Amino acid sequence: MTETARIDGKAFAAGLRSRIADEVAELGRTHGLKPGLAVVLVGEDPASQVYVRNKAAQTVEVGMASFEHRLPAETSEEEVLALVQKLNADPAVHGILVQLPLPAQIDSSRVLSAIDPAKDVDGFHVVNAGRLAVGLEALVPCTPLGCMMLLKHHVGDLSGLEAVVLGRSNIVGKPIAQLLLQANCTVTIAHSRTRNLPDVCRRADILIAAVGRPEMVRGDWIKPGATVIDVGINRVPKGDGKTRLVGDVAFDEAQGVAGLITPVPGGVGPMTIACLLQNTLTAARRQAGINGQV
Ligand code: NDP
Repeated sequence: MTETARIDGKAFAAGLRSRIADEVAELGRTHGLKPGLAVVLVGEDPASQVYVRNKAAQTVEVGMASFEHRLPAETSEEEVLALVQKLNADPAVHGILVQLPLPAQIDSSRVLSAIDPAKDVDGFHVVNAGRLAVGLEALVPCTPLGCMMLLKHHVGDLSGLEAVVLGRSNIVGKPIAQLLLQANCTVTIAHSRTRNLPDVCRRADILIAAVGRPEMVRGDWIKPGATVIDVGINRVPKGDGKTRLVGDVAFDEAQGVAGLITPVPGGVGPMTIACLLQNTLTAARRQAGINGQV
């Protein structure tokens, strides 16, 4: 039986935010620069409202400027595009995030492609996806960036390791696979059409689960000693009329098999907003022509 250690994403994210706050203070002192993040929320989706509130609070906590734009659910695509153009041109705004999902009358891909790639702190613009794919400097989607930070910190050199990424979405699976490839892993991307999924997963020294299926990855899908990064966030009934969050990995079964694992909640989740702040800082530096990294 392997001893399984938990990766504490909450503590890691707190440390990252504190390093970002120091960098923001330093930028203010040395260059008079205050990074600014604009968040656009259209409609009243309750989950999105919570995310936007948390993002704004953490932005202010690290000393950045936060610009919140809340628009009614019936806002037209043209109005959202006009706001994005205004934010693109605003020198106080270094990062722009349009909270998804957008109401049905708005084409998300048109809105995301209207964001200046230099301010695209979610890393969803095709220019950033393309730059990442060919190995150029890019703004990288926040959750994949957070997963890589946890892996590099806890595992170290990833070169030559077998990595299996479960899920091929543009916002999680594909960018994580690109980053693992850049780190010299041998990468397999699995999805809903993959045959013999448990066998494919058992090859992995590093297993990334990003499917959105509660506890789909069983303990016997995991190679003993592997590092498991569980990106999934699934709300399931608890039995008392309430709900609880679980990941895509059966956490209890993974204990004693995996070498390292991220819990849900408290693993990858907290890294996402911290990496949004990191991307805003990176974008502000690049727009001002200042080098340096947290
Ligand atoms: P998507 O629904 O966009 O993608 C899911 C992927 O999983 C698809 O590629 C799909 O395959 C694959 N898949 C679905 N079912 C199966 C199955 N039975 N067997 C094998 N593969 C399957 O989800 P996202 O990538 O956006 O998100 C994935 C999870 O991560 C969700 O739980 C989400 O909530 C969470 N998440 C967490 C974040 C965080 O901050 N921690 C941020 C973003 C997402 P196919 O392409 O063939 O359909």
